[in-house]
Amino acid sequence: MSSVPYRGRLAPSPTGYLHVGHARTFWKAQQRAELAGGVLVLRSDDIDAVRAKMSFAEAMIEDLHWLGFRWQEGPDCGGPFGPYEQSRRRAFYEEAFQKLQAAGWVYPCRCTRKDVLRALQAPHATDEGPIYPGTCRPAGTQPISQPVTPPLNATKWNWRFRVPDGEVLEFVDGGFGPQRFVAGQDFGDFVIWRHDDLPSYQLSVVVDDAAMRISEVVRGADLLLSTARQLLLYRALGYPPPAFYHCPLVTDDAGVRLAKRHDSLSLRTLREQGVTPESLHEKFLSDS
Ligand code: GLU
Repeated sequence: MSSVPYRGRLAPSPTGYLHVGHARTFWKAQQRAELAGGVLVLRSDDIDAVRAKMSFAEAMIEDLHWLGFRWQEGPDCGGPFGPYEQSRRRAFYEEAFQKLQAAGWVYPCRCTRKDVLRALQAPHATDEGPIYPGTCRPAGTQPISQPVTPPLNATKWNWRFRVPDGEVLEFVDGGFGPQRFVAGQDFGDFVIWRHDDLPSYQLSVVVDDAAMRISEVVRGADLLLSTARQLLLYRALGYPPPAFYHCPLVTDDAGVRLAKRHDSLSLRTLREQGVTPESLHEKFLSDS
């Protein structure tokens, strides 16, 4: 038995209604927290002020309760590591960013998405977009001594994390077993602070999981590669990394992965159609 108390989390982004795919992954997270006699945290990943909506955040809590989810810390019930909404945690992200900047892990980049695509002769596009070709990367090795830096809120600048090219990142995933990714090949320098003056997903999630003392991150398999990036961030920030448990993604009848646009499989729609929590458990959650 590990001596670290188990702390798990559900971290939905309120950019649409949750669907049965989220529910399935979250159910696994809840089961694992219960099994370990631990705590489950609900965090609203609402950092994207343009896409996140208050109404979706409210619906998320209602729909999760309806389906039988229970958490011990969250936006609705508070807890010792709040606030539990990313939109209220900016100070944490700025502090981490400044730490990375001071240690020379990040550099400013003016490339747009189009620039990145154009710079790649044979675009090596991953599921998440092209691998950054290093156009704005300063010469030399890392950590880099920082050139004159634009202010944090300068417009049109992304700040990228310089990855250690060729380093093999390995971890044993609770769901998928041993994983291996190569920095600079499987993923390139990734955005830490966005040109619209928001922390990136990678930064905010690492900062929050560390600050909230999450001991195991349970989430969808689409984030396996992000885990490799996040391990680099844990190391650069001096945080102990949690364990990871990724879950297979739910697909629709045509084999396409569920997204928030699959309205017919959103918890909200199913609920309005009179589908009961019991039948959803039987159909989607029972073997998770
Ligand atoms: N909030 C993210 C999402 O909804 C997931 C965060 C995570 O599990 O790391 O996709």
